[in-house]
Amino acid sequence: MDFKSYIRVIEDFPKPGISFKDITTLLKDGDAYRASIQAIEDLVKDLEIDVIAGPEARGFVVGAPLAVQMGKGFVPIRKSGKLPGKTVEQGYDLEYGSDKLAVHDDAIQPGQKVLIADDLLATGGTICTTVKLIEQLGGVVVGAVFMIELEELNGRDKLPGLRVQSLMTY
Ligand code: IMP
Repeated sequence: MDFKSYIRVIEDFPKPGISFKDITTLLKDGDAYRASIQAIEDLVKDLEIDVIAGPEARGFVVGAPLAVQMGKGFVPIRKSGKLPGKTVEQGYDLEYGSDKLAVHDDAIQPGQKVLIADDLLATGGTICTTVKLIEQLGGVVVGAVFMIELEELNGRDKLPGLRVQSLMTY
């Protein structure tokens, strides 16, 4: 399937100069959505994994169906203050200001093999922070998989030694 034909590119969103890749046009098509999750599974099915983790919010849209498809559990990585139980947190810098990501401190057991899933790899900041959170709990990140990778931003350079795969590249 030509997955890229389902992606809508919106220029100058959220600000001038950004060419935004909108996945909602793929998600609303049942056949394309299901086929994209199956194709992502094909990319990672040789990996030995215990659990899949995905960062809020679009990481849920990729990671949760992938987890169901693979018969694995799903661990949500959320913005600070959203999870009800005891959490560990990691701060990260944004273009303007900073933010924090959090995970329940019992979500991953030491030694568990974790695959990270998200919609899009841009600069890699989000995934780098997600890796740190998982490692803080003793989890072993065995790979990261994306629906889309923006190659010119070199996000994978922030993830040295990690297996990084994407369904589509721009
Ligand atoms: P990074 O931390 O710079 O790699 O940014 C990745 C995050 O930003 C992803 O979780 C995306 O949801 C979001 N993002 C950045 N650019 C785009 C885009 O063009 N389309 C959709 N999401 C984007």
